[in-house]
Amino acid sequence: MAEAASRSNGARYAGPLAAELADDVLARFLRYVVIDTQASVDSTGYPSSAKQLDLSRLLVEELREIGLEDAELTEHGYVFATLPGTVEGAPTVGLIAHVDTAPDEPGTGVAPIVHHAYAGGPIRLPGDPTQVLDPAELPHLAERVGHDIVTSDGTTLLGADDKAGVAEIVAAVAYLARDTAPRATVRVGFTVDEEVGRGTDHFDLERFGADFAYTFDGSGLGELETETFSADQLKLTIKGVGVHPGTAKGRLVNAVKLLADVVAALPRDSLSPETTEEREGFVHPARIVGTTSSATLVLIARDHDDKKLAEHVELVRRLAAEVVAREPQASFELEVEEQYRNMRVALDRHPEVVAAAETAIRRAGVEPVHSIIRGGTDGARLTERGLPTPNLFTGGQDYHSLREWASVQDMAAAAATAVELIRLWGESVAGEPG
Ligand SMILES: [Zn+2]
Repeated sequence: MAEAASRSNGARYAGPLAAELADDVLARFLRYVVIDTQASVDSTGYPSSAKQLDLSRLLVEELREIGLEDAELTEHGYVFATLPGTVEGAPTVGLIAHVDTAPDEPGTGVAPIVHHAYAGGPIRLPGDPTQVLDPAELPHLAERVGHDIVTSDGTTLLGADDKAGVAEIVAAVAYLARDTAPRATVRVGFTVDEEVGRGTDHFDLERFGADFAYTFDGSGLGELETETFSADQLKLTIKGVGVHPGTAKGRLVNAVKLLADVVAALPRDSLSPETTEEREGFVHPARIVGTTSSATLVLIARDHDDKKLAEHVELVRRLAAEVVAREPQASFELEVEEQYRNMRVALDRHPEVVAAAETAIRRAGVEPVHSIIRGGTDGARLTERGLPTPNLFTGGQDYHSLREWASVQDMAAAAATAVELIRLWGESVAGEPG
């Protein structure tokens, strides 16, 4: 990026701090996205793909260069590091992002393109001309004329989810390490396997040692997320009676057909991801395997309200019971696994953590936007385990697709927010947080 050009048009930045951080954020981001860190759904190892550690190791080196001497790669592949604070009695604040990228689209051979000073109009990605970012369909892009927009070449993910967050945190601590303003102690945490739902499986809260934390794993400018879904995974197994089809008359009880009846009985125009939005929950058949004698359906149930979530689970149980009741020799089993819970309830007990995020976003020159997550975050699980962790924006957009993109100006605003957060918590004296 031409530095002179980026600085001469400072009006596009959220504020002076964002403008100052932009070049470093972009340089780090471009360095990180070319490293393939795709997580794997099929693996049982941890992390699910060893290549995630390629980036983690680089991050340890970079953090040490910045002066975070204790930067370490844990035995489970997390990067932990400390930037000591300058104010006695100030809290220890965690800044968290994940190094892995989603398995949905290719993650190898990422070739990022910076579209300088976006002039408006469709952006056609050169590696696959069918991949077009059309501002007519992407209102956030339409609002970013004049921004520097980063995309892939259209054949891979970009990986802004969550390398934007990683780059913003590293740029923020690099800045803070040179800064003379009072600040709180920072604990940096870079996780693995967030995209396959195992980002915090081995995250040792005691070793991390933060009083509370912020994930930088959101999306559009100013977003502050304090509410996730509550999530259960259901495994419904129906047992029938398998008999050779040539001699099956009057004896075969086909588990595949019974399970198909359960799927057919699920609501279509409601309670489905494809027909719901905002605070509407769903129960979603995601995978099906089986034979005539035994067939299994994996479903996910989601709702922001735990009581409603329990109702969705009961709906599946009732439908299965009704179907199976028609066949005296059939039976079913329903396993329910809790995945994560809406972090809102726990965060409501720590309003100062959320209030500080709002103040920091404003200080960075951005108006906070409260949004709810139709999904989970690492922060949801950490919050549940006792580390209050709301989620902040990164400036990345259209995640998990070949058309993923990020605004350099918005990424810089996120880095500025991280800096302001740590300064803010340094200003608060012990016992009187922000
Ligand atoms: Zn993410």
